[in-house]
Amino acid sequence: HAGANVLLAEDREANIVTLRDYLKNHRYNVTVARNGLQAVEMTRIQHPQLILMDIQMPEMDGLDAIRAIRADKNIAHIPIIALTALAMPGDREKCLQAGANDYITKPVSLRQLIELIETYLTEVQHTH
Ligand code: MN
Repeated sequence: HAGANVLLAEDREANIVTLRDYLKNHRYNVTVARNGLQAVEMTRIQHPQLILMDIQMPEMDGLDAIRAIRADKNIAHIPIIALTALAMPGDREKCLQAGANDYITKPVSLRQLIELIETYLTEVQHTH
């Protein structure tokens, strides 16, 4: 899905650089939000095809940002993959309960991330 618009919501610069470069090399168009509030605002404006959402972020965390997106009918359908450093029992459930489609644990396996992204972009194509 070259050219697909992906919103990356992440507050750590090192992670932003790594993920953005990798995604750009796979020919996605990447925009970056640096906190949860920005992520919700940019999703409302840009309607990305997929969102990568860090969970631990300032202003508004990723879980609240996911809930806000799912509560807005104009953007509620956009697939969201949660990114979290926490590997505590119950975290996956928290992300999924908030409305994330899927979940990937940091440090992110870049190949696994691309596979997940492609899976959800394909599903979107088939259902819209
Ligand atoms: Mn973070």
